[in-house]
Amino acid sequence: MATVVQKYGGSSVADVQKLRHVAERVVRTRNQGDAVVVVVSAMGDTTDELLAKAKEVSANPDRRELDMLLSAGERISMALLSMAIRELGGDAISLTGSQSGIITNDRHVDARIIEVRPFRVQDALAQGKIVVIAGFQGVSYKKEVTTLGRGGSDTTAVAMAAALDATYCEICSDVDGVYSADPRVVPAARRIGTLSYEETQEMAEAGAKVLNAQAVEFAKDKGIAIYARATAGPLPGADPSSDGTVVRRHPPRMPGTVVGVASERDVILLESEVAPPELLALLDERAVAGKQLHVASGRTTLIVPRDNLHDETRFRDALRESFGARARLIDGLAAVSVVGAGINATYTNVRGGSQALMAAGIPPAAVATSSFRITWMVPRAQADAAVRTLHATFIEATPPLLP
Ligand code: ASP
Ligand code: MG
Repeated sequence: MATVVQKYGGSSVADVQKLRHVAERVVRTRNQGDAVVVVVSAMGDTTDELLAKAKEVSANPDRRELDMLLSAGERISMALLSMAIRELGGDAISLTGSQSGIITNDRHVDARIIEVRPFRVQDALAQGKIVVIAGFQGVSYKKEVTTLGRGGSDTTAVAMAAALDATYCEICSDVDGVYSADPRVVPAARRIGTLSYEETQEMAEAGAKVLNAQAVEFAKDKGIAIYARATAGPLPGADPSSDGTVVRRHPPRMPGTVVGVASERDVILLESEVAPPELLALLDERAVAGKQLHVASGRTTLIVPRDNLHDETRFRDALRESFGARARLIDGLAAVSVVGAGINATYTNVRGGSQALMAAGIPPAAVATSSFRITWMVPRAQADAAVRTLHATFIEATPPLLP
């Protein structure tokens, strides 16, 4: 019997009616003869609402207590979904992240999964049950409840799929796949039929919201296919690429092709003349995540996403106390990126993108490249315009990608 993992995002379980629809889809999958594991996110905007409540109580909420609070969101949806499935005659059992064997490090609020021990899940599957797992949470080796960072239900689903050697992992949301840009910003955005693990990881790192970056690592390891599709869409048929987006190994693609444009707007830029080991030690101590670290001529820059930074004022105070004017947080910028394998083999793409941005009246404050990505820092107010400009330049100007 094949095992499949289905993950349903917050908007797909936003209310009881939607939960029922998901329950029907789960039961239909089970009736096809597959063993089914379901991973759920918190209902609708629950996580944002819980965070807002925490902020009302404390400007710098304690990380451990935040995990206790935020993990409750997914517990609500797992229990309700399990009830809804039972209502349809399915034999469902809900399990928390901890009960499912999601073991993490002890970094509260953006913990990393270090191991999955899915014994209870396997036992329940062996009894023919549908297992409903609370996404986004685990338990640390210190036996503390942890959460996996915003969007972390994807990580739960893919890590569980890898641990169970699932046939595939479906990520179901209100969007029918991964697009070449956010369709709300770029109406001409195109759905991408197939993406490689690396491309998907880069898209997610660059701010595309469809799949969580860490999640892809687990799928890549085991070569598990991830299907991103709409909850309202059909179950995977004989041709899984007929709808949604398939993430798998090595799709054919012309090297140098830009597959997508993504942006991350809620970031702060850290700029500092402090010796990197000293600066980074403080970031580690405060568990502040950053990306695209750059050190040159005595100056360090780092992009700090605000997603999992819930104690920003305390972080600012700590920086000021330790380093004074030698470390600054610059607000008001956004990171806009284009992604594709081999896009920096020549300077054609960096030049083309930079020129297009300048011509559109968006002079970039900084540029960074890697083998899969070019990132421009632009004023936050112009982030959408920059995404549209880059999409027009790199994607609309070329025929649709095959596949
Ligand atoms: N509920 C969590 C969040 O909103 C996790 C998730 O949705 O994947 O970030
Ligand atoms: Mg959510």
